[in-house]
Amino acid sequence: MPKVILLILDGLGDRPVAELSGLTPLEAAATPNLDKLATQGICGLQNALGVGQRPGSDTSHLAILGYDPHLYYTGRGTIEVAGLGMRLEAGDVALRGNLGTVTDDLLVVDRRAGRISDTGPFVKDLDGLSFEGVTLHIKPGTGHRAGIILRGPSLSSHISDNDPHEVGVRIHEVKPLDDSAEAAFTARVANHLFTEAHRILKHHPLNQERVAQGKPPANYLLARGAGFYKKVETFQERYRLKACAIAGGGLYKGLGAFTGMDVLKVPGATGLANTDISAKFQAALEALGGAYDFAFVHVKATDAFGEDGDFLGKKSFIERLDQSAQILLNRPDLLVVVTGDHSTPCALKRHSGDPVPIMMVGEGVRTDQVTAFGERSCTQGGLGRLTGLMIMPEIINLLGLSPLIGN
Ligand code: ZN
Repeated sequence: MPKVILLILDGLGDRPVAELSGLTPLEAAATPNLDKLATQGICGLQNALGVGQRPGSDTSHLAILGYDPHLYYTGRGTIEVAGLGMRLEAGDVALRGNLGTVTDDLLVVDRRAGRISDTGPFVKDLDGLSFEGVTLHIKPGTGHRAGIILRGPSLSSHISDNDPHEVGVRIHEVKPLDDSAEAAFTARVANHLFTEAHRILKHHPLNQERVAQGKPPANYLLARGAGFYKKVETFQERYRLKACAIAGGGLYKGLGAFTGMDVLKVPGATGLANTDISAKFQAALEALGGAYDFAFVHVKATDAFGEDGDFLGKKSFIERLDQSAQILLNRPDLLVVVTGDHSTPCALKRHSGDPVPIMMVGEGVRTDQVTAFGERSCTQGGLGRLTGLMIMPEIINLLGLSPLIGN
């Protein structure tokens, strides 16, 4: 059975750009290797959440990996926290955290406390705070970030953020977002714990040092994106494929961890335009040469260029990726699947509902007439138009693992 490499180029899809002679960045880019794969494979278009739906990166990836976001997505917090290696239990509420700076009147001065580089010594003193049977678990993330779990009975993730998402305004009180007793209870407990955390941080000796050095104190735990954790069937339980995830960005490592994949550390995988794409491919191929059956490889910069409206940057990044993709050619031991999670057209500088090209290349795949990997060329492909949730069944079929329905 071939091993699968699923390469997701974030925000890959785009719209025609006048300055590129009416081509998209992917169409305008010189991509001999991706085009060769398209020629040898079967192509199509996909909308992760359905036609015209404008997905977030979290929901679109869940759908592509076969997890219906309507069932599994309750908020970004659970995914981010999983990415930090925090163990979630059923019933947990998880939030994304920042250490920020507030005045005595709780006005937000800096949401990142001067881009503090390590929250570890601060959050250590908050870990284990509890109130009315709910315990706060916290772990440092990169830079000013931290993962937060509220653990206890009768919690709800239908609560608002305390993070006002802007400076110069007061910290928000956490409010219940529905009429349930659980949401009211969770909001009340969260407010108490965040106030207690503020009291501890305010008097933290390291903050006195920071102030003496002219740095903004890390004196408030800002929280956002509450999600509720229900037990998730792992990728291996679901597909009988041992899977690994290779990504630079925290969300994507989190998506891997959330679906029970092993998240591999790859030096040089940054989640930025300077990422070492070849190192990622190499790591995936090594993993697939060993114990793993399935490698999810994520590349973020295509989306970042789209959000910046930088079509030349997007085009040249795709060209650089294409050079690294040469290693994926002529590999009968592999089923290579390449797609994006959504479109991020440079003209819009945000995600759109436009479909994204997809190709599947491997032994036995029914080829089509498509000879270039692009938004318009792939309209002619044999895969037609898929949704995200159709992708894993298609992969499973190509691996010969689809169960017979009927007899
Ligand atoms: Zn995305």
